[in-house]
Amino acid sequence: MALPRSENSPSPARHPSSMRFFVATLCAAVALGFASGCESHRSAHSEPSTDDGQNLDRLEARRLGEAGAPLPPRAEVIALVQKVADAAAHEGAGARAAQLYAISARLAERIWRIEGHDEDAARALDLYKSAAVDPKLAGACESARAAASLAGERAHDAAITYAELYRVERRFAAAAPKASPPQACLQGIGADLLLLASFRPAQSVLDSIDQALEGEGTVGIDPVDSGARLAGGPSRLVRVDVWPGDDAARVVVSLDQPASYRVADEVASGGSSAQTFVDLDGVDLGAGSHELAESGILRGVHAEATRTGSRVVLDLPGHAWRHVFAMPEPFRIIIDVARRPPGAQTHAPREVARVVIDPGHGGRDTGAVGPTGIVEKDVTLDIAHRAAGVLLAQGLEILLTRDDDRFVALEERAARANAFSADLFVSIHCNASEGKARHGVETYVLDASRDEIAARVAARENEMTPTASAELAQMLGGLRLADQSRHSTQFAHLLQRSATTAIRMRYGEASEGGVHFAGFYVLVGARMPSALFETSYISNPVEEQRLGSVEYRQLLADAVVNAIRAYREGR
Ligand SMILES: [Zn+2]
Repeated sequence: MALPRSENSPSPARHPSSMRFFVATLCAAVALGFASGCESHRSAHSEPSTDDGQNLDRLEARRLGEAGAPLPPRAEVIALVQKVADAAAHEGAGARAAQLYAISARLAERIWRIEGHDEDAARALDLYKSAAVDPKLAGACESARAAASLAGERAHDAAITYAELYRVERRFAAAAPKASPPQACLQGIGADLLLLASFRPAQSVLDSIDQALEGEGTVGIDPVDSGARLAGGPSRLVRVDVWPGDDAARVVVSLDQPASYRVADEVASGGSSAQTFVDLDGVDLGAGSHELAESGILRGVHAEATRTGSRVVLDLPGHAWRHVFAMPEPFRIIIDVARRPPGAQTHAPREVARVVIDPGHGGRDTGAVGPTGIVEKDVTLDIAHRAAGVLLAQGLEILLTRDDDRFVALEERAARANAFSADLFVSIHCNASEGKARHGVETYVLDASRDEIAARVAARENEMTPTASAELAQMLGGLRLADQSRHSTQFAHLLQRSATTAIRMRYGEASEGGVHFAGFYVLVGARMPSALFETSYISNPVEEQRLGSVEYRQLLADAVVNAIRAYREGR
């Protein structure tokens, strides 16, 4: 059970060259008059500055803050962060100070992602917050959003990401009467919050955020289902936007003027269906279609004319939780619906004290190999070490089925988990396919195989021919326990969701491969809920490159940590 932390585990070669940094610092010296010949470097960025050296620091910091730029040694990066932060402090307040703070924050965040020193994350958070002090300034919302994500990642806790993003959304929406609201940023945060719905903290936590903001005097809107607002005159419904999901959804009703609104619900007898109405007094429905058929928790959304104005109707599958509030400029009413009230104790915590993490393959069994030679067994071990370190720190008992590069038979892995009396078993792998284009995250649960893709993946992980693997799947019927299978499926969905959410927030999109069922030998006979996590396709060049990076492995490890936490909370 010895668990060395991830620093010793295999990691990819990174920033092999500091040459570009030397060129730029040399030119900084040149600009101060020590030599000549860097004009092209300078004229490419002709922004007004009283200090060319400072300007070059800023440009260099911005370049190094971008993903993929090779970084010089940490000490040089930290010195540059400090220089740009000092320049920001010298500017005092205003747009330029905010910009300098944001540049230095991004660079500090990047060196944290690569080298993992917590003090760099703390520094980045401080700098982002300095960049976001004045909500009226361009980029302030983006800096606050970056700080929120970073705070959650630093704590390996998606609930913290949620709470911090929520705080940013409320703060910037509330500041809107005085500042033009950063629409794209707020929409992005809205989408993030929807993705993170499974990790939403208790309502009391969010209430305390609202209260703290009100205490600061920044909230200009009522944060609860308040109903009436002062009407600003005849108003028209501009459009209705819908972000549907299985467990939660958001409907945004945009009006061209503020209007008063009232919320009401109706639940069918027996509770098999429900409707939430938002009545908009004096609001003209306008032209166009207002019938929106949706999926998941939203069975339908439509807008209709009423005697007093307009009404937006949400059709829901029985009892649901809803939260309706307004945001100004442009005035819009936001209707959040979810299957469960946030933080409600409808889900009993599950006892999870011992977790087995199974890094796939090892020793002579390399697993799949990517186009540039990255090997599955190395990636899985590193992710397992990263996840185990965080889980240990959270007080869980962790067993790794292997702690180094050695061969462990598939049947031995479940046997060890049983001997350890584990409450949960997670097997970590990289997917592979003959077609290089195939990509995405998939999670598997042990079952008689139900689809062909799942059967193929199972055959590869089982090191069997597809025929033999299919036979194994057929034999599994008698081995499964209904309750265990249900818990495995719940955990698999949490794992799938936490991984795709994290990837989508970091990379803008994620290929959602879904939860599948197949006969995985490694899971056979495990007496606890179990899932096999196919993190990404190592056969896909883009995903292979990601799997080779420290930050992507940490992201996947955090996805495992967040899924285990959500599972323990009974979600
Ligand atoms: Zn594998």
